[in-house]
Amino acid sequence: MKMKSFTPPKRLLMGPGPSDVHTRILNAMARQTIGHLDPAFIEMMDETKQMLKYAFITENELTMPISAPGSAGMEACFANLVEPGDKVIVCINGVFGTRMKENVIRVGGVAVIVNDDWGKPVDPEKVEQALIDNPDAKIVSFVHAETSTGAISDAKLLCEIANKHGCLNIVDAVTSLAGSELRVDDWGIDAIYSGSQKCLSAMPGLSPVSFSDRAIHKFTHRKTPVTSWFLDLNLVMGYWGKGAKRAYHHTAPVNTLYGLHESLVMLTEEGLENSWARHKKNHKHLRDGLSKLGIHYLVDESSRLPQLNSVFIPEESDDAKVRSSLMNDFNIEIGSGLGDLAGIIWRIGLMGHTSRKENVELCLSALQEAI
Ligand SMILES: *Cc1c(COP(=O)(O)O)cnc(C)c1O
Repeated sequence: MKMKSFTPPKRLLMGPGPSDVHTRILNAMARQTIGHLDPAFIEMMDETKQMLKYAFITENELTMPISAPGSAGMEACFANLVEPGDKVIVCINGVFGTRMKENVIRVGGVAVIVNDDWGKPVDPEKVEQALIDNPDAKIVSFVHAETSTGAISDAKLLCEIANKHGCLNIVDAVTSLAGSELRVDDWGIDAIYSGSQKCLSAMPGLSPVSFSDRAIHKFTHRKTPVTSWFLDLNLVMGYWGKGAKRAYHHTAPVNTLYGLHESLVMLTEEGLENSWARHKKNHKHLRDGLSKLGIHYLVDESSRLPQLNSVFIPEESDDAKVRSSLMNDFNIEIGSGLGDLAGIIWRIGLMGHTSRKENVELCLSALQEAI
């Protein structure tokens, strides 16, 4: 067999993730691999945890990246916090909510569904009613930024309601972290997971997570062991925990973690709130341009995600043709609709390093030609 090295084409990633990865991050990943128990590596891990606490705005000691993509962070939260028979209120207003439900069922929990239309935020009143109807519920879970629809929900209020009813909460922040306001401690979030490849604009493959003391108490006092060995936080804590007694659990993806570290250094340089503001500003720029092209948003202005713009495909345009023209003629990738929204919307991502004025302008002029 005669094979050649792989050279990816040059693309501008304006879909639902991954987003464009900055050269600084790519360069960081190309540095020499060292042992995952090397003191220098452990120091880098500690800095990474410190910067993740900054990004999540939390003092939670258990804040770290899981060595796998966002879906593994999701699974870690449900596998550790839900015991067989536990009732979980699952809010569904898009694809990722349906995955939460699937997670609850697979670990033996009982899912109580609160449904909202795709494109709408989670309705806090319905959540409150579900908690009144189910006083034995233990957990409320919802997606902060639904990447399948482009809608943001009021995480602060939803956590407040869950806390008032004595429930823990699990929050999907894969797309919101670093792109939209998110305050883990102030909002009383118990378990949260994110992804490296969206608004942090690092490479795919890592899932930053954070757990409150209440959440830690829950999984350290389980009656049954966590069914996943790899994601059992009782074991993972021994590896990512503090101090010299760090025990081997799995081989950390060393170079991928260099990449996440560099992306977090860049976030601290820019400033978290400035990053939120940049995402908003470029979103407005895109919104104004799209409106001139006669392209309309799926989501009401009040709950639009700046980093994920879901817009109706114009009637005269062919979904697949336009997306392949963007890709082939302009090297721009945008996202298609998922589930019920397939063929109805496009999803234009302005996440992380992609969220820049020149990219907005490129996308607008390419769309103008393609539609
Ligand atoms: C992308 C995404 C995930 C899944 O993350 P992966 O890294 O693809 O596993 C989960 N939830 C939301 C809201 C996402 O946008």
